[in-house]
Amino acid sequence: MKDQHALESTIRRIDGRGYKAYRDLVGPWAFPDFTLDVDHAQSDPFAAPSRVSVRIDPVHAGFGAEAFHTRTRAIGTACLLARSFSEAAVTALRRTGSGRSGEIRMESPGQLVLDQTAVEVDDTGRVEARFTVGLPGRGRSIAGDEAIQLLLTDVPRVIRTTLLAAAYESAIIHEHADANEDAAALRHGLEQAGLVAFIADGAVLPRMSGVDDRPLADGPVVSFQSPESLRVEIETPNRGLVAGTGVPNGVTLIVGGGFHGKSTVLRAIQDGVYNHRPGDGRERVVSRGDCAKIRAEDGRSVAGVNISSFIDGLPFERDTKSFSTAFASGSTSQAAAIVEALEAGAGTLLVDEDTSATNFMIRDRRMQELVPAEGEPITPFVDLVRSLYVDRGVSTVLVIGGSGDYLDAADAVIRMADYQPHDVTGDAREITARLPTGRQSEAEGAAFMAPAPRRLVPGTIDPQRGKRARSVRVPDNRTLLFGEHTIDLTAIEQIVNRAQIRAIGEALILISASAGGTGEAESSIPDLLDTVDAALSSQGLDCLGERRTGDLAEFRRIDLASTLNRLRTLRVD
Ligand code: ADP
Ligand code: MG
Repeated sequence: MKDQHALESTIRRIDGRGYKAYRDLVGPWAFPDFTLDVDHAQSDPFAAPSRVSVRIDPVHAGFGAEAFHTRTRAIGTACLLARSFSEAAVTALRRTGSGRSGEIRMESPGQLVLDQTAVEVDDTGRVEARFTVGLPGRGRSIAGDEAIQLLLTDVPRVIRTTLLAAAYESAIIHEHADANEDAAALRHGLEQAGLVAFIADGAVLPRMSGVDDRPLADGPVVSFQSPESLRVEIETPNRGLVAGTGVPNGVTLIVGGGFHGKSTVLRAIQDGVYNHRPGDGRERVVSRGDCAKIRAEDGRSVAGVNISSFIDGLPFERDTKSFSTAFASGSTSQAAAIVEALEAGAGTLLVDEDTSATNFMIRDRRMQELVPAEGEPITPFVDLVRSLYVDRGVSTVLVIGGSGDYLDAADAVIRMADYQPHDVTGDAREITARLPTGRQSEAEGAAFMAPAPRRLVPGTIDPQRGKRARSVRVPDNRTLLFGEHTIDLTAIEQIVNRAQIRAIGEALILISASAGGTGEAESSIPDLLDTVDAALSSQGLDCLGERRTGDLAEFRRIDLASTLNRLRTLRVD
């Protein structure tokens, strides 16, 4: 393998030549303590930046076994490294020419701890990192001196100050590996304890802002303390027993006055499907991986979903056993979201009144009198939420501030007051006995029916864009451009970053290939999700996409399904 001096002389040789001569840099270059690989050189200074990776063998990386000896520890370490690298890369930036010249960039996991391709630490302590650089140019010619500065000084410095064990105090590495291992253990403990979520005492739930995921820091912050009656303890490998609130299986209400912290608790639960970094405040807040946040999303498209358990008898006898629309209402979108989530394997539903359609959630006694059931197509959620649990084992956690009719359906009621939780289940029982609502159930005792899985019509997922056979682009963290189509992800709240969206886009390509190419004419949606799961568990994230890139992160099949369901060309039968 050629060494760093050869890299330098290659750059000198192509200095001043047309930008395309940067292709001569492609290939591995040996540095004393790592191998730098230019995987792809950009064709001009304004194009997508060049893809670079670095491999560091265990001896030079220098991590002790505690950093990587279990998969969850290795992921905790890898995310620490990725965060540090991407921060150091921003600091290292010097603008050295046209376009993206001189830029070093790595996808950061932010507050999250996820399996991702930006940095991987394997079970021998080998480190591989992938990032991009903007190769320096003046106009369209190669700026050699600047390229030497970038590739032989700046990039090696960022690597050596963030990807080697020597760059960290050993306590820091321990902390990140420990925290991730403990979070995994807490989540693992949920099932045995019969819980959908766990919120440790002392957790800090509120965030800086709606667009900033870091913990709220300015102003007084109330840390979470469990009411005695809901307190459970779960064993962790590094912290021993951790105490906190166990949110039980069944139907749980979070009630309380406006602005008292209800939605913040639900959001912590929905984000608890993933682990968080130490210092996040939610590093010991975990929920079952199969929690699906459900919300209304008027205007979305729906493809052949059986929403008849919730909605039946629409005007013009519109079919709700296979309901399709290019413009859903609040209530039909929320009904479809539930059925779709169950089809994808969701075992817990999370619902916030703030983002729900009122007529989907509730119809009170007086409205039942004024508009009899025959004139109302909707069976409100309040009449099916118990059956979902009793007949199908699907738990629901609901934020409800406005409608006491839900008290009859609840197994547990948590009241938020001044950001502190109180167990008011007993009070709620007393009130339901004393003040009956007088409502008639509109489900008439019928159980929630599990619709048959839909089958995808091949060819309705098309990744082609212009002359390119496949195109996946992620312009921001709420949008996927798939082929020629824009998928709006605003309402899929549990998709947390761009790397996830990109991975989901690539997984959609895998689905389109499996649905069309296997000889079988079509496949059920759960089978197709299984195909993706199987590929990921045997080959990891690199099975996605055509080339090895550093911008993919793990995602959940529920969120993949939610994205697929919002593709406006989707057709099923
Ligand atoms: P609700 O859903 O009950 O109306 P939210 O959960 O939206 O209330 O919280 C209202 C506000 O209070 C938000 O700005 C949130 O950041 C803040 N907040 C929530 N929990 C806490 C807490 N534990 N300490 C301090 N502020 C909090
Ligand atoms: Mg709220």
